[in-house]
Amino acid sequence: MEEPGAPRDRELNSADHLALMAGHAAHNYAPLDVVIASGEGAWVTDVDGRRYLDALAGYSALNFGHRHPQLIKVAVDQLHRLTLTSRAFHAEPLGPFCRALAGLTGKDMVLPMNSGAEAVETALKVARRWGHDVRGVAPDRGTVIVMDGNFHGRTTTIISFSTDEDSRRGFGPYTPGFTVVPYGDVEAIRQAITDDTVAVLLEPIQGEAGVIIPPDGFLREVRELCTRDGVLLIADEIQSGLARTGRTFACDHEDVAPDVYVLGKALGGGIMPVSAIAADRAVMDVITPGSHGSTFGGNPLAAAIGHEVVRMLSTGHWQQRATELGAVLTAGLQSLTDVGVVAVRSRGLWAGVDIDQTLMSGKELCRRLADRGVLAKDTHGSTIRLAPPLVVEDADLELLVDTLRTVLVAAG
Ligand SMILES: *Cc1c(COP(=O)(O)O)cnc(C)c1O
Repeated sequence: MEEPGAPRDRELNSADHLALMAGHAAHNYAPLDVVIASGEGAWVTDVDGRRYLDALAGYSALNFGHRHPQLIKVAVDQLHRLTLTSRAFHAEPLGPFCRALAGLTGKDMVLPMNSGAEAVETALKVARRWGHDVRGVAPDRGTVIVMDGNFHGRTTTIISFSTDEDSRRGFGPYTPGFTVVPYGDVEAIRQAITDDTVAVLLEPIQGEAGVIIPPDGFLREVRELCTRDGVLLIADEIQSGLARTGRTFACDHEDVAPDVYVLGKALGGGIMPVSAIAADRAVMDVITPGSHGSTFGGNPLAAAIGHEVVRMLSTGHWQQRATELGAVLTAGLQSLTDVGVVAVRSRGLWAGVDIDQTLMSGKELCRRLADRGVLAKDTHGSTIRLAPPLVVEDADLELLVDTLRTVLVAAG
């Protein structure tokens, strides 16, 4: 008899899967040659039975690790009740989820979507309509100030203001209405604001760019500037939010409340794509029936899981874990400066590590780490990103640092 849940393709090995992917899946990623079959907590197992420490955690989508029992239970219970209604009708889990997420963000209202990019798009639409309806900006004039090195997703509008050539090339014509300024430069924002500016959109820490942390006081100064000039501050906390940095939101480190939170990734508990924006009524009320929506946004399964994520975050346990484990990881990484680590940027359990570029590329480092049972992701050049699930143990972090040392020493 077949094992419960055993896929029919169980007999395929890694090489078979890699061939299928090369032949039949679009090449929009260049993943490591690891084919994962199962996961639990901070560990995954590939189709050939090799185990790996997951030090990326789905770019923070897996903050609670793989298949956290509390989240799986809620998901399974909901699977047995109701999975989808569309928004043409109300569904039981959505109201309680929205109230809980509003509470977590300190905002009045929530608009649920699915992917992170959709939530960013939602924030941009809300900001432009708010600019028009509330601020009196002329139609088609509302502009948004964005940051150099940003990453907000992959839709046509979002890549229109990306500064990464690979993300943009060949996809024009691009959506107008965005002004790019250097990240961390409050003076540049001040100078870029005009009567047509409706919002400033930023990541409180730039993840994709390599865990770039802005200068102390930057977020607070941008907040003051936006308040003074009547411009919305939109914080994309899709990767930085939900306990990753040791606080519920990265903006909390500067006691800053943006006008609009953009959330995703961990909001889906590593199970579903669940995203949302949160804002006060004065902003959210510009959204009227028919003006925005999504067939799957806020579906019962997503809402049940998202609600459990909010419950889990409401105790402070995960934020504290990120702080404590983050201190362990950071100290470990800083001890590697003698073997080729040239910079460590970290906040909570999230680190960008630059290595001596004469040793090897970030990609090659990740390949060699995977050979030794640790999964991490490179970003530009010789930088790697570490964001282990918050369920990781001290011993796992030791293993991570030791493996990095071994690989760097072998190359040096
Ligand atoms: C991942 C990410 C997004 C896009 O989310 P998707 O779910 O991939 O569309 C947007 N902003 C930030 C900061 C992200 O890290």
